Amino acid sequence: MNTSVVTSRLRQFAAQFENRTTPFYFYDTALLRQTLHEVTTAARAHDFHVHYALKANAHPEILVLVREAGLGADCVSGNEVQRAIDCGFDPSHIVFAGVGKTDAEIKIALHHDIFCFNCESLQELEVIAALAAAQGKQARVALRINPNVDARTHHYITTGLEENKFGIGLHEIGEVIALFKQHKHVQCMGLHVHIGSQITDLNVFRALCTKVNRLQQLFALYELPLPHLNLGGGLGVDYHHPDEKPVADFAAYFEIFAKFIERRPGQQIHFELGRSVVAQCGSLISRVLYVKKGLQTNFAVLDAGMTELIRPALYQAYHKIEVLHSGEGEVQKYDVVGPVCESTDCFAKALELPELRRGDLVALRTAGAYGEVMVSSYNLRQRGETLFSSGL
Ligand SMILES: *Cc1c(COP(=O)(O)O)cnc(C)c1O
Repeated sequence: MNTSVVTSRLRQFAAQFENRTTPFYFYDTALLRQTLHEVTTAARAHDFHVHYALKANAHPEILVLVREAGLGADCVSGNEVQRAIDCGFDPSHIVFAGVGKTDAEIKIALHHDIFCFNCESLQELEVIAALAAAQGKQARVALRINPNVDARTHHYITTGLEENKFGIGLHEIGEVIALFKQHKHVQCMGLHVHIGSQITDLNVFRALCTKVNRLQQLFALYELPLPHLNLGGGLGVDYHHPDEKPVADFAAYFEIFAKFIERRPGQQIHFELGRSVVAQCGSLISRVLYVKKGLQTNFAVLDAGMTELIRPALYQAYHKIEVLHSGEGEVQKYDVVGPVCESTDCFAKALELPELRRGDLVALRTAGAYGEVMVSSYNLRQRGETLFSSGL
């Protein structure tokens, strides 16, 4: 068991969880504000621009705090573009990526005059050009290049290898550049790369810089200016120690790029961070429904499952499970499972926890990113509420 003296930030709120209907998502607003302060301070030191990736958590209250901190918005659907605008983001701070943008989504983004499309194929560029021409507009487009860099993260969240579906392959670059040169309704804004998520080895970003530097040299040969570089997101967080390291090391992350990217004169550098901004401020709060004694291990059946937090079932992700009672009982081993009729609906196996009883509250920590946005109604489950510490 972890006997470290670091106390959980969550305990101070536990008394106020007691009479609520579970499961629910809880967000520590103060921690989010602190994280936003640290990311913006670290980025400003290098004149870097940060766009928040809405897909990590698109809750309006979170988006308003993100916008007030001065971040832009990185969207992957027309509805996300609309949500960002509804939450007050200036269209000139919105970028739009995704391998499968529909015509309707492209039209929404053109209508709002967003800052930039991150275009993922030659055919998509042709469609954007045609739709922009029909609206009498010029679309600003960055090319998402697949840089073939291994993010060394779980293979389900790796996006920058040749075998992945994302981005334009280098073999198509000649045609893409020709299209920019002929078509006056598309303007090349620069390059975009995003190689994966939950990247904890900063050497990966250094390798990315090397690739991007080479790409820039290639584009220089074609005399296509690249006023912007968008280097994506992917910075990981510490799922094992949410209280020891509640804020990711943004300074070290940006430092790598500041050191290794060959920045051209006047070039603007952008990032798209999702997980590292919102993961640690969120927890899924659940109650123990039943404890079943097993032969080797016991089962703790929670009232939250893969329908509330799918990451363990989807990509074998780890979330620290914290028991919110005082924890006096004897330590026992539990398989901590949800109520959904799927064997993958399991949060942890043979986990040592202080003795659990029916009705005990537990928290699944570091659930602010890719948690509530993926809630589903499978098994016709009821959607839980959302609580902010600022609202308590
Ligand atoms: C998901 C995504 C991000 C954010 O990734 P994180 O790992 O959450 O920082 C950034 N850019 C694009 C294009 C994405 O799809």
